[in-house]
Amino acid sequence: MVGSSQVGAAPPTPRGLTTSIRDENTAMTTTSHPTVAFIGLGHMGGPMATNLVKAGFPVQVFDLVPAALEAAAAAGAKVAASAIEAVKGAQVVVSMLPASRHVEGLYLGDTGLLGAIEAGALVIDSSTIAPASARKVAQAAAARGLAMIDAPVSGGTAGAAAGTLTFIVGGEAEALERARPVLSAMGKNIFHMGGAGAGQVAKLCNNMALGVIMAATGEAIALGVAHGLDPAALSQMMAVSTSRSWATEVCNPWPGVLPNAPASRGYEGGFGNDLMLKDLGLAAEAALGTGASIPLGELARNLYSMNSQAGRGALDFSSVVNLVRKA
Ligand code: NAD
Repeated sequence: MVGSSQVGAAPPTPRGLTTSIRDENTAMTTTSHPTVAFIGLGHMGGPMATNLVKAGFPVQVFDLVPAALEAAAAAGAKVAASAIEAVKGAQVVVSMLPASRHVEGLYLGDTGLLGAIEAGALVIDSSTIAPASARKVAQAAAARGLAMIDAPVSGGTAGAAAGTLTFIVGGEAEALERARPVLSAMGKNIFHMGGAGAGQVAKLCNNMALGVIMAATGEAIALGVAHGLDPAALSQMMAVSTSRSWATEVCNPWPGVLPNAPASRGYEGGFGNDLMLKDLGLAAEAALGTGASIPLGELARNLYSMNSQAGRGALDFSSVVNLVRKA
């Protein structure tokens, strides 16, 4: 696979991040892990930080929410009183925040975190944010001599808990190699998409296609049902035919077709409609910046916006089918 690598495939030794030390008295080799500062312990960041602790990294955490800090402490992380405290002595800084404004607010400005991060440390932002924002923060980091990558993730909360996330990376190849041991403790696949911001662009491309495919799949099943077809039989046929997709096979939007899909439990859990809406907004913003045409992406953004206004913002994004589904 061009530009990708499986985590298990013996990564090159990162410069200055993980060192093996042979103790001549015991003839044992121990591996010393760099200290990681982790900022943002929400649905994704909490379990990601826990996986770093489990992998043997000393982890210093900060979040604005006390309950998130308590959970991280119970998992073995060291709680800091502020983000600035958390980065003291850390060789790697990971952030997992909601949106662009939080990331820019954390790192930039006179009192921003970039001014407090130790010289030579590596910065990894895994939040899903605007590519322009990712570039802006990476440039500010570079101006201070700090390497930074954008590494948004795919795989949801289940992938975060299981340590099977896919990291979609933008930045220098050398910085990615340094980040690899840390990312490998939280994920299964790493894709290097290009320079700063490229990880964010690729993540938006994936989610825009997903949003369109989900809406289209729901609409197709609704048409079949309106003609008296059985939605499960229709989905089984589609799953092995030319319209097959994750939306049909894994997260089917029609209630009762797949017992484990959010649709079969009142659209609870899964990937929130409003998170999809956020990503489609970022895709629209990214398209405006380049003049790229995304007619279906824009249409999908409006559909998820309407679904949110209908009161389903917190439900799984497959609930968008309810715009066309007769109760
Ligand atoms: P979340 O809202 O659950 O967590 C964000 C955390 O950041 C919160 O605990 C909040 O208190 C903390 N925070 C905000 N500002 C802070 C600051 N200045 N200092 C310290 N902590 C701060 O969000 P999430 O679901 O964990 O998502 C995080 C990112 O991952 C988002 O960009 C989201 O789009 C992306 N993402 C989420 C999913 C998912 O399924 N939830 C999947 C893929 C990607």
